[in-house]
Amino acid sequence: MFPKCEPHQPTMLSIICPLRDEEDSVQPFFARLLPVLKDLELDFEIICVNDGSQDKTLERLQAARELESRIRILDLSRNFGKEAALTCGLDHTRGQAVIPIDADLQDPPELIVDMVHMWQQGCEVVLAQRTDRSSDNWLKRKTAEWFYRLHNAISRPTIIPNVGDFRLMDRKVVEALKMLPERGRFMKGIFSWVGFRQAILPYARDVRKTGKSKFSTWRLWNFAMDGITSFSTVPLRIWTYLGLAIALASFAYGSFIVGRTLIFGRDFPGYASLITVILFFGGVQLIGLGVVGEYIGRIHTETKARPIYVVRERFEDVT
Ligand code: UDP
Ligand code: MG
Repeated sequence: MFPKCEPHQPTMLSIICPLRDEEDSVQPFFARLLPVLKDLELDFEIICVNDGSQDKTLERLQAARELESRIRILDLSRNFGKEAALTCGLDHTRGQAVIPIDADLQDPPELIVDMVHMWQQGCEVVLAQRTDRSSDNWLKRKTAEWFYRLHNAISRPTIIPNVGDFRLMDRKVVEALKMLPERGRFMKGIFSWVGFRQAILPYARDVRKTGKSKFSTWRLWNFAMDGITSFSTVPLRIWTYLGLAIALASFAYGSFIVGRTLIFGRDFPGYASLITVILFFGGVQLIGLGVVGEYIGRIHTETKARPIYVVRERFEDVT
């Protein structure tokens, strides 16, 4: 798995942590993360992006910053979503290697040691892959599996299943990511799009230590729709072929009816079959229109070209 290449000489490691309503997670998170980073014997910075928290997350972060000045806080003006918060973190990193990590300790900080080690051996991206999703319920596991299957069947480049945002990226990768200006930010797809030499590091995902997940089933569904429409136009193209198949079948059926009428004369009964066909095609057309609408909605968002996030205030010692 390890490609042969020049070893990297690290000087600074940047950690990015997006937080939304994580007041109870902040203290245990730093208590576990800081010893790991201090043991690495390299300089580090922790960029905490406060994504419109309604609770005391910001105060807790400021208290942690009093004790450790290498913690930088970027306070967003409202909730922009995890993907936007991550983008904000990426834009502000200064390190030669960057690692996004969740605040809820589902991504074990101890893994950072192995990630840095693999990076020092020359990997440009080190992906932490969940070998065990038992922390998720059956429905989440199954839907995740179907999503990866569908996405990889119709999108290029494919994404590696069970790999989240927890990964190490070399500076080169981060600079490449910064060149992607899109507003619809499906990070899994964006990460995979930029490429680079990747290695996989398996790990078991822990359950959330405090608080609760910010991703409801509805939000996950929308997230999946974003993923598919951002990286594939197959759902649009399907309608050409479906339309062709239906037109051909209708032509054949029409010819049959005309032939039968010519041979056997007029035949009036047929209300049931007529209404079924009308309703069926009405439905099919609406689905097609809906799919086209999904893409138009995304074009609408992109053309407005609004910033991905707005920072209210920064708390950092950066020269
Ligand atoms: N998060 C965020 N903005 C949001 C939702 C989540 O910054 O709008 C952060 C959250 O605080 C956490 C990370 O993203 O640090 C992962 O969120 P969560 O644990 O809810 O996701 P899950 O692990 O359930 O996929
Ligand atoms: Mg979580």
